[in-house]
Amino acid sequence: MPSQNTQAIQRAVLAWFDRAGRKHLPWQQHKTAYRVWISEIMLQQTQVTTVIDYYQRFMQRFPTLDALAEAPLDDVLAHWAGLGYYSRARNLHACAKLLQAENGGEFPLSVEAIAELPGIGRSTAGAILSLGAGYWAPILDGNVKRVLCRVAGIELFKQPREAEKRLWALSEQLTPAKRHADWNQAMMDIGATVCRRGTPVCKQCPFSGHCVAERTQAFERYPGKKPKKAVPLKQSRVLMLVDGKRLLLKQRPPTGIWGGLWTLPEIDPALSPIEQAAELGLSVQLHEAIPPLRHTFSHFQLDIHAFYGVIAARASRIMDAPYRWQPLNALHETGLPAPILKLIQQQFPEKS
Ligand code: SF4
Repeated sequence: MPSQNTQAIQRAVLAWFDRAGRKHLPWQQHKTAYRVWISEIMLQQTQVTTVIDYYQRFMQRFPTLDALAEAPLDDVLAHWAGLGYYSRARNLHACAKLLQAENGGEFPLSVEAIAELPGIGRSTAGAILSLGAGYWAPILDGNVKRVLCRVAGIELFKQPREAEKRLWALSEQLTPAKRHADWNQAMMDIGATVCRRGTPVCKQCPFSGHCVAERTQAFERYPGKKPKKAVPLKQSRVLMLVDGKRLLLKQRPPTGIWGGLWTLPEIDPALSPIEQAAELGLSVQLHEAIPPLRHTFSHFQLDIHAFYGVIAARASRIMDAPYRWQPLNALHETGLPAPILKLIQQQFPEKS
């Protein structure tokens, strides 16, 4: 039996949701476990405003779990290109195949079983069950964590494991038996729109009057800042070789950074750009080097130095896998990482 305080908080949060919660996002329409799953994975590292277009395009191409499972990975990656963190797309595809092969294309109906699938953690499993399938399950994504840390005065990074346990217990305790999906959506919305990372708007918050951070005005302290690690800077040299109106691309190996995506061929550290082209059987005329582009990954930064060249000899132009010549005016049909696309578009602005 929830305490009176818990019931009062539940009523306040659900009333706030009825009044101010988001109800018109594309993944909130015609809700299914599949649609919720795709949105949750896209939203993991990406803002709602960016996700909306990607989500709609993805759903148009892969409207069902079966459609996703039966599509080539290349196609899935092409629809993910620009969102970053490509292991998310590879895991989606692997997971869809697994569910189709082993579970009739349906999600299992327990958090534990869903959380064992590729790329799905406990919170995403909870969202799939609660928002997509109507089963009670608490969630604890980044936004919800911030809200609960502030409400209960939890410093997340002092003792992260204990803090996580407390937060899950709190989320379980607060998630109501009825209207759990609205509750979960409300908690995500409060984190995104009211209890923001910077300055929270406590006056508009249903936790106002029940919140440690508000009472102490210690918004920075809860949840606190993740200790920063030094991020190494790496260098990469790539070839940007053009043959008429086509650009040479190379597909990355299926795992690792940009796994399975198409990118500009990398230059072996022991070779010059001309020598690398010769290794590919290409005779090229090199132009001036393109200014390097710095890209930040989660664990390192990468300076990408691209060398632009034009094919000089007409021989050896048919390239075997993992290479291919891609028409410059059809780059959007290929899964290119955003920084590589940016480099190409800087060089060929008329093709953007
Ligand atoms: S009262 Fe303020 S600090 Fe507390 S949860 Fe609401 S917005 Fe965040």
